[in-house]
Amino acid sequence: MNIVDLRSDTVTQPTEGMRAAMFAAPLGDDVFADDPTVNALQERIASMLGKEAALFVPSGTQSNLVAIMSHCQRGDEYIVGQMAHTYRWEGGGAAVLGSVQPQPLTHQPDGTLALADIEAAIKPDDAHFARTRLLTLENTLGGKVLQMAYVEAATALAREHGLATHLDGARLFNAAVKLGVPARDTAQHFDTVSVCFSKGLGAPVGSALVGPRALIQRAHRWRKMLGGGMRQAGLLAAAALYALDHHIDRLADDHALAQRLAHGLANLPGVTVDNPQTNIVFADVRAEGGGDLVGHLKACGVLATGSLYGRSSRLRFVTHLDVDAAGIDRTVAAVREHLSA
Ligand SMILES: *Cc1c(COP(=O)(O)O)cnc(C)c1O
Repeated sequence: MNIVDLRSDTVTQPTEGMRAAMFAAPLGDDVFADDPTVNALQERIASMLGKEAALFVPSGTQSNLVAIMSHCQRGDEYIVGQMAHTYRWEGGGAAVLGSVQPQPLTHQPDGTLALADIEAAIKPDDAHFARTRLLTLENTLGGKVLQMAYVEAATALAREHGLATHLDGARLFNAAVKLGVPARDTAQHFDTVSVCFSKGLGAPVGSALVGPRALIQRAHRWRKMLGGGMRQAGLLAAAALYALDHHIDRLADDHALAQRLAHGLANLPGVTVDNPQTNIVFADVRAEGGGDLVGHLKACGVLATGSLYGRSSRLRFVTHLDVDAAGIDRTVAAVREHLSA
């Protein structure tokens, strides 16, 4: 029985075509800046997102960290969502390694930060306060897409107050495919953008930070200091280039599978599903008799992440290029079986 792994879109295996591209890639030593494949990727992603320069980094976490450290000095702060990766899921790196204080704000139900909350959080220039320097948004957030009008308004507000803007666009291409616009339409409103190749795009490793050339030079120094200088990294950059060529438009398939899963689950008694906008499905499942739903799914060859609260399990399923409709239908069947047990 093959496993249906819906824990994350990071679990994908490189495809045959991607492996061939990696194998064939010309390589150099990127610490000497002479890996042609890394250089090609950096030029490609910068121009795709309408920015001057890009930096290839091992992870999205490092990309966001070097961005924050390049925008902010010690004693500055960044405004960020409570559930944002750059605040909640990166080990507090900006504070620990950057001496940059987060100012977290509660999200609205659609994942946005209310403009009034952002404005109220911007500190006056007064010795009591950290210097508010940066607004960091995330798209998609929990699979939710930031609408273009919101992006325009929030980044305009930040600029009015002299703040820089960073987008954690780990899944920016999912948002772009959902909106039916090029990713650069969103990216143009931000000073810097981080994108992940290792999520829905299906590459094994890597992210990029894009932005103005001078800032990317500062980020390069931080990357070195953080241990992120990689040598024949073109092996990995080749996979990312392949993903940009072949795996963007197909994200629509992942979104369709998420819809299929959501509809299948919504028909089951005791299940409440958020209508997924992209490739992430959250479902609350009544846990009859305290049953271990995640464990039951695993026994059925379906992997998901979930947490038990009260008498419900909140499950998260993420679709990606190694899942198909049959796997989704098996997932629905396994949840149904658990509920009728
Ligand atoms: C996965 C993710 C990251 C970090 O990526 P890693 O490569 O796992 O460090 C950052 N932001 C968001 C929104 C993510 O989903």
